[in-house]
Amino acid sequence: MLRIYRVNPINPEEEVIREASEYLRGGGLVAFPTETVYGLGADTFNPEACLRVFRAKGRPPDNPLIIHVASPEELNRVARDVPEFVWDVVRRAWPGPLTLILPKSSDVPREATGGRDTVAVRSPAHPVALSLIKYSGVPIAAPSANKSGRPSPTLAEHVIEDYEGDDVDMVILDAGPTFFGVESTIVDVTRNPPVLLRPGPFTLEELRVLFNTEIKVPEFARGLGEADAALAPGMKYRHYAPRTKLVVVECGDYAGLLKLIRDVVEDEARGGLKVALLLTRETREALSDLVTGVPVIEMGLRSNPYTIASRLFDSLRSLDRLNVDLGIAEGIEERGIGLAIMNRLRKASGFSIIKC
Ligand code: AMP
Ligand code: MG
Repeated sequence: MLRIYRVNPINPEEEVIREASEYLRGGGLVAFPTETVYGLGADTFNPEACLRVFRAKGRPPDNPLIIHVASPEELNRVARDVPEFVWDVVRRAWPGPLTLILPKSSDVPREATGGRDTVAVRSPAHPVALSLIKYSGVPIAAPSANKSGRPSPTLAEHVIEDYEGDDVDMVILDAGPTFFGVESTIVDVTRNPPVLLRPGPFTLEELRVLFNTEIKVPEFARGLGEADAALAPGMKYRHYAPRTKLVVVECGDYAGLLKLIRDVVEDEARGGLKVALLLTRETREALSDLVTGVPVIEMGLRSNPYTIASRLFDSLRSLDRLNVDLGIAEGIEERGIGLAIMNRLRKASGFSIIKC
């Protein structure tokens, strides 16, 4: 059964947080908001509870969870041999959307880390998440709360959509929309130089300043091709995918992009396919003649990609409600949070990319 509680995102009600934390400490699952997406949390130190997360999501057992702590000082509860530069980084960057890979403490069960000797850890910048961790008194192991393979939830309604009808018990803390809308940035700091495993709201440009070093960016972090499973478990799986087939249209030059979108829509329509477009407001306006009669999901503003990030997963879920054969998504520049957006879009399309 899903038990849903409304909670104030800035000043979470103590009674609600206390009840949810007691449920979690008893081995239960609690879906909660973070500044990135909703997570599905369990007591990190309870292996049975961690396994329950995998079962509920249908998540492959080798795809590890992220451990959420209440403060930088708590890093010691889940990681060992933390180098001085990492202490320095977390003191400056947490709470925030930055997950670090470190050697795991022996207290963290292998069920939480997909059998690995390393652990992914972060401190989330959301009052509800922080107060849930504090009241629980344990670090919370939580992947994104979507069913495995689906777009991550940025609203409690997305969590409900994925699990209603399932034989699963969970508490859902509904605090409205999450802030960034894409999952945390993941950096492997066991390697030198540090390796970006997943781009997120903490941008590459910011990481370079924070670490004051070069950061390695593998091709898969850009959403191009399959990840090396030894380095980045879980990244090999198809992610974020709407049920509707999706292609991403990319071009460095904006006039070229507009022309390419026009060509792709005309081609597919000629082939008899029902299409929908995922466009920024600027592009929707520039193509206003083309888009009459074609359903358009407005993704946000090209001039402010944070608006695209916050609606991205909801846009992908909306595509499935339109009953079309194909979604055609506009690509954006891989700068700032644009790198995270393009990583998610390319993966959501199953790497189906049309370039100029
Ligand atoms: P999610 O919270 O759903 O975004 O999933 C967490 C992701 O963190 C996984 O899919 C992995 O890619 C990554 N991750 C977690 N633990 C590790 C680890 N020990 N080493 C490398 N990546 C990890
Ligand atoms: Mg996920």
